[in-house]
Amino acid sequence: MRKYFRRTMGLVLCMAVLLSTLYLADMPEVSAAEPIVIVIDPGHGGDNLGTDYLPIPEKDYTLLVAQYMKEQLETYQNVKVYLTHTEDVKMSLAERAEFAHQVDADFLFSLHFNMSLPHTLYGSEIWIPSTGTLYSRGYSAGYEFLAQFAEMGLFNRGIKTRIGSKGDYYGIIRECTSRDIPAIIVEHCHVDHINDIGYMQSAELLKEFGVRDAEAVARYFGLTSKDGTVSYSDYAPLAIPVPAGRVYNDTTPPDYVNAKLISYDKTGKYATVQLSAADSDSLLQYYAYSTDGGLTWSAFQPWDRTRETMTITVNLGYGNKSDLIFKVSNIYDRETNSNPLSLNG
Ligand SMILES: [Zn+2]
Repeated sequence: MRKYFRRTMGLVLCMAVLLSTLYLADMPEVSAAEPIVIVIDPGHGGDNLGTDYLPIPEKDYTLLVAQYMKEQLETYQNVKVYLTHTEDVKMSLAERAEFAHQVDADFLFSLHFNMSLPHTLYGSEIWIPSTGTLYSRGYSAGYEFLAQFAEMGLFNRGIKTRIGSKGDYYGIIRECTSRDIPAIIVEHCHVDHINDIGYMQSAELLKEFGVRDAEAVARYFGLTSKDGTVSYSDYAPLAIPVPAGRVYNDTTPPDYVNAKLISYDKTGKYATVQLSAADSDSLLQYYAYSTDGGLTWSAFQPWDRTRETMTITVNLGYGNKSDLIFKVSNIYDRETNSNPLSLNG
């Protein structure tokens, strides 16, 4: 009996020692190795096509790029990646956010491609939550995406909030905010503009979008690749202070746009103009000009965001000219016209 007791006690002790060793050895590692959970949301699906300006609808592009993004992200350590849907199915915005909640997501990235009604806009943009840490985290992560797209040659249309009657205007951001999950909308480029359409028509560039999306996430979260060749562990993403209240979108156009004629050769076809503009609420984005008094406009040209004044030479072409007018828009696509410049005096 005593022998049996001693043997049993010995076994219990042995197991206790073993367990405590395992416990001590495993605990810190378990918490340190807790993976970052990323949810990629391919925008649209099923009978919700997204923009269907091109023969292939937006929903097909977002699913393709999401798969490339997942594949690239999974080359990194310590990250668990989900897609809200891997098949072409209809899914509500609440269902997408709830999926992210169920897997305990650290971030949701909703992938999209853009179109503007007048087909005049081009470039990439990011929509972010308007409040608290979700705003600052959204801004920091969004900044990484736009930096990646700029390296691909795309125009940067900025990081923006949009407020509607229910709070954040975009449903995926609102649904994620209500579940306290950071979420941003990534609008890669405009499918309906000559400057951007080449990206949609190249299998390689579409894949690059997915790879760049993953690189942005890897930088933001400071990930290290599984093979150890790439590490962003020392990389510091842009630090954005947490705003006290809601960050509203700019609903007003640039404060002023002033055009001054520098030189004009009446027999030639060029006019050089000094164009000044300012917007106290947001960044300036594009300018355009009209040689028929504002009836038709040139394509939008990038505004140099480092300056308030640009010197611009306009090719007027031949024929009768009415007034030369400029317009400048901000990152919210609000426009202000310049004073008209008479070319017939
Ligand atoms: Zn979309």
